Amino acid sequence: MTAPVLEARDLAKRFPVAGGFGGARRVVHALNGVSLAVAAGETLAVVGESGCGKSTLANCLTGLTEPSGGTLLLEGEDAGEILRRDPLRFRRRVQIVFQDPYASLNPRRSVGDAVGDALRIHRLAPRRRRRDRVAELLAEVGLAGEHLDRYPHELSGGQRQRVAIARALAVEPRIVVCDEPVSALDVSIQAQVINLLRDIQARRGVAYLFISHNLALVRHIARRIAVMYLGEVVELGDAAALRRRMLHPYSRALFAAAPEIGRSSRDPDRPPPLSGDVPSPIDPPSGCRFHTRCPLAEPRCAAEAPALREVDGRLVRCHLAERLAMAPAPPISGG
Ligand code: SF4
Repeated sequence: MTAPVLEARDLAKRFPVAGGFGGARRVVHALNGVSLAVAAGETLAVVGESGCGKSTLANCLTGLTEPSGGTLLLEGEDAGEILRRDPLRFRRRVQIVFQDPYASLNPRRSVGDAVGDALRIHRLAPRRRRRDRVAELLAEVGLAGEHLDRYPHELSGGQRQRVAIARALAVEPRIVVCDEPVSALDVSIQAQVINLLRDIQARRGVAYLFISHNLALVRHIARRIAVMYLGEVVELGDAAALRRRMLHPYSRALFAAAPEIGRSSRDPDRPPPLSGDVPSPIDPPSGCRFHTRCPLAEPRCAAEAPALREVDGRLVRCHLAERLAMAPAPPISGG
């Protein structure tokens, strides 16, 4: 069996922060035992509210942050070891596209230089061929040759994100981690960039780990979806199965908060939206981390942490998952 392109096993990330009582150092538990794998050519979406740890996960998966625990495997090899010995080899396989393309592009470098640098650093095109290769990459993301000599401030937000995608593709990666790649763009441009990513995947077979807070959006691009809450995966499964019905109360509430065409906010089948804020990852709730906001919480939820286990063909972290799977719940998706 082929190894996943990228696999996280029990990944943890803790950040020490100052400011506790008497100046004591405290710890942010940003990731707590996250396990997931992305197969070649697939899209796995990771969704959750702001503060759930998804961007920390993106940084750990792309080698920008060192995990505090767990293992990261790149095509079956220890990614930490590859990063230590040969970071260019890691970066050649794993690329990232950030939310804000303006911040991720050097304002002093032209588009041609920004994309050409990736070819130069990885020795993928001789100097005399480089400009032509950059033009080919720009054409692949829908930009014209005239954009080669422009600077980031001369481009629209959508064009800048296309440049960031071209730069990521320049090294022919096996996987691109897309960290909220369209959330800074106008709604009309979001669909164009999503369609572009899908076309590129169909052509190149590149895998995506697509991070978003927007569940409605990821269901248009992902084959599988992982829902995160306060540093943990609470539900992970096939997008079509989750589209029919989500089991975890948090996934359901997240869906309820996502606008969808053809579905009224007064729909009686719609789960109640989430109330309250995500608790602090410095002092996460005992037991199930969601129990302070869960409409179904029982006394044991505060005392006993549920394991992530297989229920109804997906992984769910909830004591009541079997009961919820058996219940004749209405389908939660309108489209
Ligand atoms: Fe809610 Fe309890 Fe399930 Fe946690 S374990 S999601 S608190 S029902």
